[in-house]
Amino acid sequence: MNAHMKLEGAAEAPFYLPQGDECDVFATAAQADFPVLLKGPTGCGKTRFVAHMAAKLGRPLYTVACHDDLSAADLIGRYLLKGGETVWVDGPLTRAVREGAICYLDEVVEARKDVTVVLHPLTDDRRILPIDRTGEELEAAPGFMLVASYNPGYQNILKTLKPSTRQRFVAMEFDFPAPQRECEVVARESGLAEDRVKPLVRLAGKLRSLKGQDLEEGVSTRLVVYAASLIALGMSVERAIDTAMIEPLSDDEDVKRGLRDLVTAVF
Ligand code: ADP
Repeated sequence: MNAHMKLEGAAEAPFYLPQGDECDVFATAAQADFPVLLKGPTGCGKTRFVAHMAAKLGRPLYTVACHDDLSAADLIGRYLLKGGETVWVDGPLTRAVREGAICYLDEVVEARKDVTVVLHPLTDDRRILPIDRTGEELEAAPGFMLVASYNPGYQNILKTLKPSTRQRFVAMEFDFPAPQRECEVVARESGLAEDRVKPLVRLAGKLRSLKGQDLEEGVSTRLVVYAASLIALGMSVERAIDTAMIEPLSDDEDVKRGLRDLVTAVF
């Protein structure tokens, strides 16, 4: 039965090309009921990985894109007025806790501080979610798993996780796929032939090496997929690169000129 369920999940799982043993590590952490922190640059495959693993493990997934206005109430729930009546509406975290689902907090450091307070009792062995407003204290259903991601690349002292929070998670480091794998991913995602994807991936590598000098962040795998998809749809290579791999990286004309020189060197 279990094996059958797993197979079913695997058939539906969104495509994810592993970089190493991350699928096994995640599955074991899930089995142990451990919360997991995914560290890595934006657009390198973390969200896809979680969607893939949730499907493989046969667990529902609630994804929350955190932002600086996201509060604990957004995750837990709130009373809302419905037809003259006040009703309690569960937030995504509460739903995941009740259903034994995976709750994925993308870019968790962006969220307001009260969010981390909520995570603490959920990430130790009590696995409980106190809901102050209703007086409930929910015990997480079997299968509930907390997954959070953050990007250590943004050098902002105000936006790092406190040790008291991060040491409640097992952590996995992600990075852009190695060139051969990135070619495979981009070809598969865009439908562009691998030999046409190769120079785009080579260019991405060069652009990434500029991180920290002219660029805050290197080009993501997501942007390489965009460029390849535009080319597959008939856009010229030059225009697609400019639209998907240069303009999104910088607003500074000098920097962009420098990046375009790199393009000429690669193509
Ligand atoms: P992140 O969550 O790290 O910001 P995403 O998971 O949204 O990034 O990845 C961006 C895109 O890159 C995905 O939509 C997918 O097309 C592609 N991608 C990156 N790495 C992989 C991978 N290993 N397997 C499949 N697709 C990948």
